[in-house]
Amino acid sequence: MIAIDFTHDPQRESWIDSANEAGTDFPIQNLPFTVFHTGDGDPRIGVGIGDQVLDLRYCAAQGLLDAALVEPAQRQVLNGLMSLEPARRVQLRQAISQWLHVDTSTSQAVLQEGLYPQDAVEFCLPCQIHDYTDFYASIFHATNVGSMFRPNNPLLPNYKHIPIGYHGRASSVVISGTDVVRPVGQKAPAEEGQDPTRSPAALLDYELEVGFYVAQGNPLGSTIPLELAEQHLFGMCLVNDWSARDLQKWEYQPLGPFLAKSFATTVSPWVVTMEALAPFRVPEYQRPDGDPQPLDYLSSPENSASGGVDIQLQVSLLSKQMREKSLPPQSLSQTRFTNMYWTIAQILTHHASNGCNLQPGDLMASGTVSGPERNERGSMLELTWNGDAANPTPGTDRTPLQLPTGEERKFLGDGDELILHGFCENEQYRRIGFGECRGTVQPAR
Ligand code: MN
Repeated sequence: MIAIDFTHDPQRESWIDSANEAGTDFPIQNLPFTVFHTGDGDPRIGVGIGDQVLDLRYCAAQGLLDAALVEPAQRQVLNGLMSLEPARRVQLRQAISQWLHVDTSTSQAVLQEGLYPQDAVEFCLPCQIHDYTDFYASIFHATNVGSMFRPNNPLLPNYKHIPIGYHGRASSVVISGTDVVRPVGQKAPAEEGQDPTRSPAALLDYELEVGFYVAQGNPLGSTIPLELAEQHLFGMCLVNDWSARDLQKWEYQPLGPFLAKSFATTVSPWVVTMEALAPFRVPEYQRPDGDPQPLDYLSSPENSASGGVDIQLQVSLLSKQMREKSLPPQSLSQTRFTNMYWTIAQILTHHASNGCNLQPGDLMASGTVSGPERNERGSMLELTWNGDAANPTPGTDRTPLQLPTGEERKFLGDGDELILHGFCENEQYRRIGFGECRGTVQPAR
């Protein structure tokens, strides 16, 4: 695990005042990476600090970085930094923390030249994502969804032994703020013996997820033991795995999700590093008595003691009518990443356990983060229980969501904007945030 050092000191302040404000997502203890441009389409790596973004390419050009860090810091994507030795990443974080510290010895006049207000820049995908894999690591989500489609057999026998995933599509991963076009696709025949139909998805949904980016990869044919998995994690982000449930229901057997997912996946612009998250590591999810223990390759004392990450998550929705009436987004649910049955290290180790080569910048997402309570469900499917009054399941709430405009939602409507937030908070350290992950649904073409 990553050591706590001076960069995590909760008393530490920056000469950039907005970084010292109580509610900021980006105090000097966070320092998330991003890629941005200033309207000229010339992407460069940035670091979030308060309401500003610091241009790392500029800092490298000013001679502020160690020689080994200059080339990767000047790229248009984070993959070079992701490929560094873990000790180099710590070194870079410590350097940036020193520049931005209130008592810095680096010229503030020089650094000021590399600062841009976050609301005046455009964000890009933070890295070249070679591959994207989505998992299914919340047992609450898996049980909820399973009980809708297989009431007598919600959790398949493999679930507690193996982190279930499907290979997503990297080309349709988009940055927060990108519009999402409602997909058109095949749906199951209304009655047996009829033909399937093809039309715009009516059951369009979101999935609240947390993603992580791979740091150094592994050669084809080799594996990543669980004891080394944390060193291969670069940082985390928010993910919305948009899902067309009517398309999914017809296509998902026997090989899993396909076109119901690959029309868009939205990621937040900020990559919160594993170094920044070090104060928020917690024990893995406590399996109830009677659950099987993972096989040896997915089990280690370190993973049990601190494999979890305590991230608090929120989803809200802003419909077109709400936007026109200047109403604030409506909260749909709040949950916690500690609800996940599998840790991110177990997910990474399992992914490489057959010799599959992971590469710097590969994106892995957790699967929908749902908790045990109704207000902790991370998808519309679960919140409205499939919007399906004809298929009652005892003890579930099938009421459509009510919006302040009088509108109702069982699934997403055109013009709806989905907004994800995440943050880490405990009594001992400074609160850090993930920023926002947003996307608006556009009508089918
Ligand atoms: Mn998903």
